[in-house]
Amino acid sequence: MKLSRRLFLKSSAGASAAFAGFAPVWSHASVSVGDWQVDTLSDGNLVLPGAMVTGDLPADEVASILSKHGLASDQFTPDCNITLMRNGTDTVLFDVGAGANFQSSAGQLWEALDTLGVYPEDVTHVVFTHAHPDHLWGVLDDFDEPMFMNARHMIGSTELAYWLDPATVDTISPERQAFAAGALRYLTAIEGQLETFDDGAEVLGGITAREFGGHTPGHMIFDLAQSDQRIVVVGDVIGNHHLAFARPDWVSGSDQDQAAGVASRVRLIEGLAAEDAALIGYHLPYPGIGKAVRDGGGFSFVPA
Ligand SMILES: [Zn+2]
Repeated sequence: MKLSRRLFLKSSAGASAAFAGFAPVWSHASVSVGDWQVDTLSDGNLVLPGAMVTGDLPADEVASILSKHGLASDQFTPDCNITLMRNGTDTVLFDVGAGANFQSSAGQLWEALDTLGVYPEDVTHVVFTHAHPDHLWGVLDDFDEPMFMNARHMIGSTELAYWLDPATVDTISPERQAFAAGALRYLTAIEGQLETFDDGAEVLGGITAREFGGHTPGHMIFDLAQSDQRIVVVGDVIGNHHLAFARPDWVSGSDQDQAAGVASRVRLIEGLAAEDAALIGYHLPYPGIGKAVRDGGGFSFVPA
């Protein structure tokens, strides 16, 4: 599967399309936003116990929604889609995948970059949505040196302060203690290269950060807009293509603050649907590009 994905990425890279208004037309894993090229790269996938996502949700309704997607509730294997933006000057990664030390099914970013002829030293900016292992741990190489040695590394100030706080590992719930220890270790290792930004900041020309907390305390999404075209990198505010769209008002076990997670998810999906905005979801089916559309009382993810 990896091979075909690589070939697919290679063949679709550089595809061009015409646009009208805020309506990017995409060629699978490669999207144009104005004259920027935006690609999604697969870091592989995660393997999660179903209960981690579904928690105490009503089992019958969960099964009904999942069955529409051909899924069962015992285990999920969500893809991990990393966004790459190139504009001829900057080479920007949104999150960097899991690296070698999280799950063996993930951590393939550098191979995916290689298929596009992009090398770690070419990356000018690494911008984080949040500091969970599947988004952060790829920031170091096998020698614990920064993988993207020439890049500016940028993270939301709320997110950074939370994970660098030595008290976090003791106050977070037991099942998340490994996340906290990992975040502290990886963020400390790159601390000298880290810059922070806040809600509403333009982290780079045309790329605006917006804080949607809940999944983690300072989770950020990124609005990429250029020449009247637009796509939104939503990270893990929308954690899957099934329950999160059908019932954004349901709590998700993957959100650290579940009530805040619901509020962020509802606000984001309603906004994206109302604006007919294209989105890239980190854990939506590869390549993770599509739109949120109203569907009955909830929403559906419509892939590009
Ligand atoms: Zn994630």
